[in-house]
Amino acid sequence: MIEIAEADCAHSTIVSVNNSLFCNGILKFGTEAQKQKYVRAIAEGKEIGAFALTEPQSGSDATAMRCKAARQADGSYVINGKKSWITSGPVAKYIILFAITDPAKGAKGITAFMVDTTKPGFHRGKTEPKLGIRASATCEIEFQDYVATADEVVGQEGEGFKIAMGVLDAGRIGIASQAVGLAKAAYKAAVAYVKERKSFGQPIGSFQMIQAKIADMKCRLDAAEILTLRAAWAKAQADLNGGRFSTEASVAKLTASEAAMYITHQALQIHGGMGYSKEMPLERYFRDAKITEIYEGTSEIQRLVIARNETGLR
Ligand SMILES: Cc1cc2nc3c(=O)[nH]c(=O)nc-3n(C[C@H](O)[C@H](O)[C@H](O)COP(=O)(O)OP(=O)(O)OC[C@H]3O[C@@H](n4cnc5c(N)ncnc54)[C@H](O)[C@@H]3O)c2cc1C
Repeated sequence: MIEIAEADCAHSTIVSVNNSLFCNGILKFGTEAQKQKYVRAIAEGKEIGAFALTEPQSGSDATAMRCKAARQADGSYVINGKKSWITSGPVAKYIILFAITDPAKGAKGITAFMVDTTKPGFHRGKTEPKLGIRASATCEIEFQDYVATADEVVGQEGEGFKIAMGVLDAGRIGIASQAVGLAKAAYKAAVAYVKERKSFGQPIGSFQMIQAKIADMKCRLDAAEILTLRAAWAKAQADLNGGRFSTEASVAKLTASEAAMYITHQALQIHGGMGYSKEMPLERYFRDAKITEIYEGTSEIQRLVIARNETGLR
């Protein structure tokens, strides 16, 4: 993810949702038949997967969702509702969807389903016009009497919220990696530019104010990368021995996304007018960085997760 995001942040968004939010959920909670059908098609590069949790009125508070799945006598479910901001929604063949099966049970009344976008009752809505990661397609989707069979339920009925949160913990390490890769690209461009660009007869890198920027960028970049690798290590340990890595994942995502914002901003500034030009990639790095502070849990939600885990208070 770090390497891919260094080359193109939008592309790394597609990879992250596909591999992490979609495939990881099925690998962890799906049946063998689901793994063979969905993960195989995606791992072979034949199809693209998406993840549908957010709705127009519910983002950070996913339990406020309204999309409903009503169980029928034959064990199938009829799904009605809308989801918004779905990465790869315009192109995905399969989507892991979260819908309410029992409104009385709150978070425990949410269930995960595999959706095939070629089946009747699935509709694509407006494409979201975005500030950055514009090569990643995002849209609303809608379900009108869409029928999911019993074998399209992922995990058990009522386990959807647990699946979504578990998958997002891992996904946050992917977004931290994305932020590190993007920050690296901006940092490397800045270091090259300060050696080559001259002002007042000297390379701009010889001015102390520019040197301070380079030093501050380097400290934040290294801190972000090391905390991201620590989170990946913590997840690997949890996969082997059990246990949680939610604090490490949130610390990495928060630190790396704020580092990416800072570093892309400073790198643009170092490039002066050329930083603002579309002839160079700096303005794109700057626009792309912002999303890392928003999706898979905003910075405020990461702070909330970290503080709750640390204090045990709600
Ligand atoms: C480009 C893009 C791609 C996305 N891709 C997907 C996808 O593939 N699948 C999917 O399901 N979703 C996706 N999302 C949705 C994304 O995860 C949400 O936008 C995000 O979780 C925030 O939710 P929200 O936009 O509803 O903001 P809100 O939850 O309405 O938050 C608004 C503001 O209030 C703050 N806030 C909310 N609650 C609290 C609190 N308790 N304490 C302090 N502050 C709080 C937030 O931090 C934020 O600053 C995507 C979003 C974008 C922009």
